[in-house]
Amino acid sequence: MKKWLALLTCALLAVGLVACSSKAKQASSEKLKVVVTNSILADMTKRIAGNKIDLHSIVPIGQDPHEYEPLPEDIQKTTDADVVFYNGINLETGGNAWFTKLIKNAQKVKNKDYFAVSDGVDVIYLEGQNKKGKEDPHAWLNLENGIIYAKNIAKILIAKDPKNKAFYAKNRDAYVAKLEKLDQEAKTKFKAIPADKKLIVTSEGCFKYFSKAYGVPSAYIWEINTEEEGTPDQITRLVQQLKTTKPSALFVESSVNKRPMKSVAKETGIPIYAEIFTDSIAKKGKPGDSYYAMMKWNLDKIAEGLSK
Ligand SMILES: [Zn+2]
Repeated sequence: MKKWLALLTCALLAVGLVACSSKAKQASSEKLKVVVTNSILADMTKRIAGNKIDLHSIVPIGQDPHEYEPLPEDIQKTTDADVVFYNGINLETGGNAWFTKLIKNAQKVKNKDYFAVSDGVDVIYLEGQNKKGKEDPHAWLNLENGIIYAKNIAKILIAKDPKNKAFYAKNRDAYVAKLEKLDQEAKTKFKAIPADKKLIVTSEGCFKYFSKAYGVPSAYIWEINTEEEGTPDQITRLVQQLKTTKPSALFVESSVNKRPMKSVAKETGIPIYAEIFTDSIAKKGKPGDSYYAMMKWNLDKIAEGLSK
């Protein structure tokens, strides 16, 4: 009798477990499964999609999106995804080409399953280069391009998940308006800074798009994170350059090694004014923890530092 009861209990439990797990699966599979390559794209996607999607972001906050080794979870989520967003223009596809390998393994098809959110931006190339694979990827550091990213993300979400079209479109419009306002403020802010003070110095040369948009030239230790970062030659070259144009402040990015910029500060006597956000947003709850907040932080800190 006891044995019979135990068996029955087991059977009931098993049925219960199966029912529970299939219910959970059903609930999660109703939502569009979206994978994005980094924290900036994750934030933009969240602003538009809210909780209507299941979102997985690959490169963790504060890490370098140029070169990365996907974890088993990233591979699984990418394989299962309904849609994958990546920056394109030589970010995740440059360097160790981690995204190219990942998307091939996941057997996804371009512009059907995965999409470059930078589609439509006016591409700037690395210095002295003008060909595919030599693009400067940091287009998002110009808010006008951020707006293009947001519109691309919304367009694809609407195409993949038309039942939530009105929701996505409403969020997109509010978000784009907010970014446009910040862009206008930025343009006014930098006009007020004297020309001889305008030079943004960062570790990676990631400010080309920003420089063009806001009329502030930029200089760097190394041009892109896929090359050697902070060699003595690179530091000497920048120190020499800063003898001709001497800005009142240097800046260092949150997602790079700070040591090379500290050497530049020591050798030139120009202080590092602030940490800024270029290839990653800040950790949740810290200043700069969204695309909007990181851009606002950068704009404010750069304008303050250069006005000293
Ligand atoms: Zn970068």
